[in-house]
Amino acid sequence: MEKVSITSVENYERPALRIALFTLLEPLGGMQAFINPGDRVLLKPNMLAAKAPDKAVTTHPFLVQVVAELVRESGGIVLIGDSPGIGSFSRVAEKCGLHEAARESGAALVEFIDAVELKGIGTFRSINLARAYYEADKIINLPKLKTHEMMTMTCAVKNLFGAVIGTEKAGWHLKAGSSRELFAQLLLEIYLLKKPALNIVDAIIAMEGNGPGSGDPIKRGLLIAGVNPVAVDVIAGVLAGIPADLLPIEREAAKMGLVGTLREDIALCGTAIETIPEISFKLPSGLDVQFGLPPLLAKALKNQLLAYPEADKATCVLCGICRDACPPVAITIQNSALSVDNARCIRCWCCRELCPHNAMRAKRGLLLKVLTLLAGAKKA
Ligand code: SF4
Ligand code: SF4
Repeated sequence: MEKVSITSVENYERPALRIALFTLLEPLGGMQAFINPGDRVLLKPNMLAAKAPDKAVTTHPFLVQVVAELVRESGGIVLIGDSPGIGSFSRVAEKCGLHEAARESGAALVEFIDAVELKGIGTFRSINLARAYYEADKIINLPKLKTHEMMTMTCAVKNLFGAVIGTEKAGWHLKAGSSRELFAQLLLEIYLLKKPALNIVDAIIAMEGNGPGSGDPIKRGLLIAGVNPVAVDVIAGVLAGIPADLLPIEREAAKMGLVGTLREDIALCGTAIETIPEISFKLPSGLDVQFGLPPLLAKALKNQLLAYPEADKATCVLCGICRDACPPVAITIQNSALSVDNARCIRCWCCRELCPHNAMRAKRGLLLKVLTLLAGAKKA
């Protein structure tokens, strides 16, 4: 059985977080069960972009700080590292409070710069992972629970994509991003190449709507932990009220025969899940929905069934960040206007994820609007 522990916690006040983390980890053996004295332990928070902690884009710095303190008390040497999707590591660390968290806890901040090339274990021939990540004795994965335009939800497994160095992320979106299934396989293979020792999810203030960069903070008041990130994500999905059939990572994990995808294989501990109020996160507006159409028809109508990115003229400042990040170079800026070549666009939504002004919208064509209305009416 894969153990997943849940603990309710009201806010990010550090004394309360410390108590909550002890309670959370106690059924898993406590922090000392994961750390040997002298271990170099890399904490891997979500450092997507330079956003203040209250925006719920990044893992809260107080959670990172208290986890770092617990690791040090268990004899570990603490590193905090990631490869932000946008902006310099130093600026992101400053803005999302991790500079101070590292200073306060005696941890070292490590930017993922160079990589090691690893032989793939399944679909992909080779995958480069950050050296600081791969060579750490232990990884403690600290994801933020958020909705995600492409993968519906980002949590423990998706957070490990940060082990791919920034500049290579776009290349992977291009190679694997045209299919949610293929991209899910990539994420799972990244996880299998270097398994985290422990995953602790920041679901105190989570994100719903147009995550992972432009959604709305939502209070969930929970920490979730476990050794197996697939199992942790299954429970995170339940606690976010996201239907399991909308989670490609879980579907692909089941196809790959990975343990932890079935509820009956997961032993829950800590706060009883039945006592936690149910909630359904608002889903991203650009999410790819198939409406149960036969696969051939869905394939033929693929472009009409997908929302497409369009810059909002009122808020777009033509900074070019989305254009520079677009894996298939589908965005151009000419004569003070931004345009997207929809035939080239692979709907990876990196543009929306990285736009600092929330200016990239997910537009729906007529057929998609009609089908969405019909699906809504059917449900009602
Ligand atoms: S959509 Fe956003 S990232 Fe792209 S040019 Fe406009 S403001 Fe910049
Ligand atoms: S336009 Fe946006 S969604 Fe389309 S491929 Fe480029 S970054 Fe991805």
